[in-house]
Amino acid sequence: MNSIGAIPRPDGASPAMAQWFAIKAEHPDALVFFRMGDFYELFFADAEAAAAALDIALTSRGEHAGAPIPMCGVPVHAAELYLSRLIRRGWRVAVAEQLDDAKAARNPKTPIRRGLVRLITPGTITEEALLDAARPNLLLALASAGETVGVAWLDISTGLFETATTPADALPTLLGRLDPAEILAPAILPLGDWETKRAPEIAAMPPLVARRRLAEAFGVAGLEAFGEFADAEAVAAAIALDYVRATQAGALPRLARPAPQGRTGRMSIDAATRAGLEIARARDGGTRHSLLGAVQRTLTAAGARVLAEWLAGPLTDPAAIADRHDAWSWLLANPQSADTLRTGLRGAPDMARALGRLALGRGAPRDLAAIRDGLAAAERAAAALSPPLPARLAQARAALALDPGLRETLAAALAAELPARLDDGGAIALGFDAELDAERRLRDDSRRVIATLQLDYAQRYGVASLRIRHHAQLGYVIEAPAAAVEKLRANPELVLRQGMASAARFATAELSDLDRRIVEAADRAQARERAVFAGLVSRTLAEAGAVAAAAEAMALLDVAQSAAKLAEGGTWCRPVVTDGPDFQIAAGRHPVVEAALAGSHTFVPNDCDLSPDRRVLLLTGPNMAGKSTYLRQNALMAVLAQAGLPVPATAARIGIVDKLFSRVGAADDLARGRSTFMVEMTETAAILHQAGPRSLVLVDEIGRGTATLDGLAIAWAVLEALHTQIQARTMFATHFHELARLTTELPRLCPHTMRVKEWKREVVFLHEVAPGAAGRSWGVHVARLAGVPALVVKRAAALLALLEQRGAHLTKDAELPLFSHAVVPENAADCDEAATPVAEHAPVIDALTGLKLDEMTPKAALETLYWLQSLLPDRIQAGASHPPPC
Ligand code: ADP
Ligand code: MG
Repeated sequence: MNSIGAIPRPDGASPAMAQWFAIKAEHPDALVFFRMGDFYELFFADAEAAAAALDIALTSRGEHAGAPIPMCGVPVHAAELYLSRLIRRGWRVAVAEQLDDAKAARNPKTPIRRGLVRLITPGTITEEALLDAARPNLLLALASAGETVGVAWLDISTGLFETATTPADALPTLLGRLDPAEILAPAILPLGDWETKRAPEIAAMPPLVARRRLAEAFGVAGLEAFGEFADAEAVAAAIALDYVRATQAGALPRLARPAPQGRTGRMSIDAATRAGLEIARARDGGTRHSLLGAVQRTLTAAGARVLAEWLAGPLTDPAAIADRHDAWSWLLANPQSADTLRTGLRGAPDMARALGRLALGRGAPRDLAAIRDGLAAAERAAAALSPPLPARLAQARAALALDPGLRETLAAALAAELPARLDDGGAIALGFDAELDAERRLRDDSRRVIATLQLDYAQRYGVASLRIRHHAQLGYVIEAPAAAVEKLRANPELVLRQGMASAARFATAELSDLDRRIVEAADRAQARERAVFAGLVSRTLAEAGAVAAAAEAMALLDVAQSAAKLAEGGTWCRPVVTDGPDFQIAAGRHPVVEAALAGSHTFVPNDCDLSPDRRVLLLTGPNMAGKSTYLRQNALMAVLAQAGLPVPATAARIGIVDKLFSRVGAADDLARGRSTFMVEMTETAAILHQAGPRSLVLVDEIGRGTATLDGLAIAWAVLEALHTQIQARTMFATHFHELARLTTELPRLCPHTMRVKEWKREVVFLHEVAPGAAGRSWGVHVARLAGVPALVVKRAAALLALLEQRGAHLTKDAELPLFSHAVVPENAADCDEAATPVAEHAPVIDALTGLKLDEMTPKAALETLYWLQSLLPDRIQAGASHPPPC
C-alpha cells in the first residue's frame, strides 16, 4: 500500500471542499476522485501523489486556510486509463460522483451533492481495462484461529467464492497457489512476501455473526446448505463479503455460494518451488518462458484463467484427475468435434466478467452484447459434442443447453453498432421497443420541425441568411447578420437576446417552447432507453446462474481443447496417474528448455525411474550438462499429470505426489540475488520438516553456499534423511560426486550421471542421463571451456589430481576432513609439481575453509585477505605484490 501525505484540517472550507473533506476523512488511504463536471479532480496530498504517479500537471484551485489548494484532474471519459495506472501501482481510489442529475446541476444556487459510489482497490475491480484477462483477480481474507487460519477468496469479476482452513505454516503455500491481488488480514498475522498486498484492516467479527451475515447474503437459513465451514472460514468469508460491500458502496456483486474446499485436495507447492519451477511465471516475471506459456493453447481469456488455475493447484485425487484427462482425450480421439468446438470458442467473449459488471450495475451495452454472443458461441460449442461423452464433457454440454429465449431477446434488442456508453444513446435497436421508438421519433421530428421553421422565418422576415441555432445558455435562437438587425427588430414577437459586431441573436416564444419540447423528448428517449436496458439487464441477471455455468463450461472446454491440441502432435502423451508410489517417465523432455533450444540443437529426451526400490536418484555430472533441466522436467511432469494435462514424454506413470519440493542450490540462485547459505538451509529445513513418503523432492546442488566440507557433510546428511527417514521420491543433483559411493549404506540410492564425451581435450555434453557416477567433477574442464587461461587450467588439473587422491578413501566411517594437512597421502611426493606447494598452502586452505563468508562485512573480508596473504610462504608473498596477470 502506498501512503499519502498529510491533509490540512477542514475548518473554513467552501461547501464543495467540505464535501471533499468529509469523503477524504472516511478514506484516508485512498486517492479521492472528486467528480466536478467532466473531470475527476484530486486535491491536496492526493493531487500531489496522483500527479507524480500519472505524470500529469499539478495546478491549484482556490484557497484553503490562506494557501492555494493543490489540484490535478483527469477527464471522466479517459478515467479508466488513469485508474488502471494507479491501481497497477498499488493505489486505492475512492470515487465520489455527483448525485444530483444534470438538471439540478444546472441550478447554480444549490451546491451539487456528491457521494462515494465506489472504492476501487486491487482486489475489487471489474473493468476490462483494469483486469488481466488471463488471470483471476482474487480478494482474499484471513481469520486466524490459533494454529490454523480460515481463508476465503472471491473474484467479483467472475463470481467465484471459495473458502478453506489451513495450518498457519502452510499459508504461504496457499497464497502462492491463489496469487491474490489483495489480502484482508488481522494486523497480528504476518504476510511475509505478501505484505504489499495487505489492505487496511477491517474489524473481525464473532463466528455466529459471520455465519448469520453469510446466510443472509445468500438468502438461506443456515450455511449448512453449502457445506461444512470451520468458524474461522466463515469469519474470513464474511469479512471478504463486508469489504466488497463497502467498496461497492453497498451493492453486492453476483457471487457463487461460498464453497468450502476442505476435501478437494491439491498438491502442495511452496513459494520457492513454485518460483524455481517457473510454473506460472518465468524468472523474468513474464509467462512466455513459464510452464503455463509452454502448454497454453487456449482460445479465450476465461479458458486461460482456468488453465492457470489448474497448473497452480494440481489435484491429488486420481479419479478427479482422470476425469480431466478423459475430457481432452475424447477431443483428441474426435478431431472433427474438436475443430467444430474450436470454431465455437474462437472469439467467444468473456461472459463471466461481463456478467460480473452487469450484476454490479456497471454494465455497458457491450457487456450485454458479450452475453448475447457468448450464448450463441455456447450453442455452437454444444453442437460439437455428441454423446457418448466422458463425464466432464457431458456436464459441460448440459450446462451449455440453455433456453434460447435470453439470447434471442438480446439479439433482437441490441443495435448492430453499439455505443461505448449507454448515455451516448442508440444501444437499443429500432423496432424493439415501441415507446422508445416513439420518443426518438419525437426527438428527431423536432429537429425536422426546426429546419421547417427556419425556412418559414426566413421567408416571413425576408432575411434569407437567418439561421436557427442552439446556444448553450440561450437555447434555440434566431441568428442573423448584424445588417439584418434593424429589419428584424421591427417585429415585436422577436426579442433581441444578444447583439454582437457581426451578428445578433433573437428569441421567440415559439422557439423556447420548441426548445423545451426537444430537450424533453431527448430526455424521455434517454430515460426510456435506460429503462429498456435495465429491463434487459434484469432479464439477464434472472438467468445469471445458468449463464455463469455456461461460461464456466466454455472455459473448461477451452482448456480441454488446448490440452488436446498439445497432444495432437504426438510428442505429448496422457500420463497414467495412480494412487501408488510409481514414478516412471519414458523419454521425458523439459517443454520450456526445449522451446528455447528450437533451432540451435535438439533436446535430448531422458527416462526417469523412481520406483520404490530405486527411489532416490543421485545425479552427478559437470556444470552445464543438464542436471537441473532433468530434475525440473520430472517435477513438471508431476505438475502437468496431476493438473490433468498431457505430459512431454512418450509414456508416464505417476503415483500421486502430495507435496512437491524443489530446492535450488545457492550457486544456481544467484540470479535472484539470494545467495546466502541461510536461505538455502531454511528451504532445506522446510523440506525435511514437511516432506513425506508421497512427496517428490528435488534437491539441486545443496551445500554450495558454504565451505566444501561443510557442504559435503550437509548434503550427505540430507540425502540420508530423505532416503531413510522421509522415504520420499527424491532427485538429488550434486557436484559432490563422492556421494555416489554411498550405495552400500543407502540401498535405494541409484546413482546416475550426465554423459559427457571428451573430444580433442574439450568436453562435449551429450545431455544424456545414464546409470553410474561422474568419475570426477569436470569443473576444470568447464573452466577451460569458459576460457580460463591454459596455465591456470593446467595447474588446477594437477591440484585436482592430488586432492582426489586424498579424498579417495571417503566412506561412511572415514574421517571427513578432506583437506586437513594431517592426512597427507603417502604418495604425495609422486604428484610431481603439485605436492610441495599444496603442503605449503595448507594453512591458507585451512583458514579459507573455516571462513564464514556470509557473515562477513566487506571490510572484514578485505582484512581477511591481507591476513591470508600473510600466511603464505615468503617465496610466494613476494610475488603477490605484483599485479596479477589478467
Ligand atoms: P546443469 O544443471 O548440469 O549445470 P542445466 O540443466 O542448467 O545444467 O543445463 C544447461 C543447458 O544445457 C541448458 O540451458 C540447455 O541449453 C542445455 N540442456 C540441458 N538439458 C538438455 C537436454 N536434455 N537436451 C539438450 N540440451 C539440454
Ligand atoms: Mg544446475
